[in-house]
Amino acid sequence: MVSVTRLMEKALMGIAKQWIAGDTINDALNSARLSYKNRMNAIINKLGEYHTSKKIVSNTVKEYQTILSSLRKSRVEGGVSIKLTQIGLTRNRKECLQNLRGIIKSASTTHEFVWLDMESSDHTDETIEIYQRLFTRYERLGIALQANLKRTKNDLADLINHGGKIRLVKGAYKENARIAFKSKKEVDDNYIRLMKVLFKKGNEFGIATHDSVIINGAISLSKKYEKKFEFQMLKGIRNELKPKLIQKGFNVSEYIPYGTNWLPYSIRRMKERKRNILLLGSSFIHSQRV
Ligand SMILES: Cc1cc2nc3c(=O)[nH]c(=O)nc-3n(C[C@H](O)[C@H](O)[C@H](O)COP(=O)(O)OP(=O)(O)OC[C@H]3O[C@@H](n4cnc5c(N)ncnc54)[C@H](O)[C@@H]3O)c2cc1C
Repeated sequence: MVSVTRLMEKALMGIAKQWIAGDTINDALNSARLSYKNRMNAIINKLGEYHTSKKIVSNTVKEYQTILSSLRKSRVEGGVSIKLTQIGLTRNRKECLQNLRGIIKSASTTHEFVWLDMESSDHTDETIEIYQRLFTRYERLGIALQANLKRTKNDLADLINHGGKIRLVKGAYKENARIAFKSKKEVDDNYIRLMKVLFKKGNEFGIATHDSVIINGAISLSKKYEKKFEFQMLKGIRNELKPKLIQKGFNVSEYIPYGTNWLPYSIRRMKERKRNILLLGSSFIHSQRV
């Protein structure tokens, strides 16, 4: 008999397909070509985190390097977005730094962008420190900062002062109330405060959200401050809004995850929207009928 967990996983996989390009590099590149055809840049991310095996880490690094060299050949503008725990941070920082240097070297030959995803707060310090060590050597290196963390106000000010390139997100990880804003209102208010700082003092940044209120706020700010910025959204989310923003003349990038390790990413996306949970429920019930 098929277990309930297996059925649940199958139902979740059915829903997750909209968010994930597929299992392979080719799937990711095909999806990137489609984004580019629709006038968006592509930011490719290999799913997976907290790798401890040296072999998995080195395969992940090689995959990012292959993607970086293939993007230009595929005539796609964009880059990659990396979690440091997938390229060695869980093993040791020296190895992670060396791996990131290798990825940046590949990116620099074709001048592609490299973003560092921000993971849970256990890794914020290390991610920022590693970013600070490397971004002066490669101008097309950016870092995500999370509006749900109370510390981000200071991190943002510091990074902007040093010319850092920021992707502002709300934050996808469950954090303690001691260090994080917990309610949607608090997080949204902080996002708007930080976004204003970006428009006033930053340059070349990403407004990474699907939230219409915030997006409209960014549009208003862009009329007052002429800054190089782009909207960044996840593959499969707010697909009706992306072409409208492009039509208005804004730059939009699509974040494209791929790989077999799809479960943690999909659970994070599920939790972000009640309707997705309802969809999962009905899909699960449907799968039990057959
Ligand atoms: C390009 C990009 C990169 C990111 N990188 C990171 C990172 O490095 N670190 C990190 O912690 N987080 C990252 N995130 C995730 C982010 O922190 C949020 O968890 C996620 O974007 C949901 O927040 P929201 O801004 O869309 O606002 P929300 O308040 O969650 O949603 C606002 C509205 O957007 C729509 N929406 C949001 N999510 C969904 C969904 N799953 N399905 C359908 N509609 C939805 C709904 O209309 C919703 O009302 C990234 C997000 C983006 C877009």
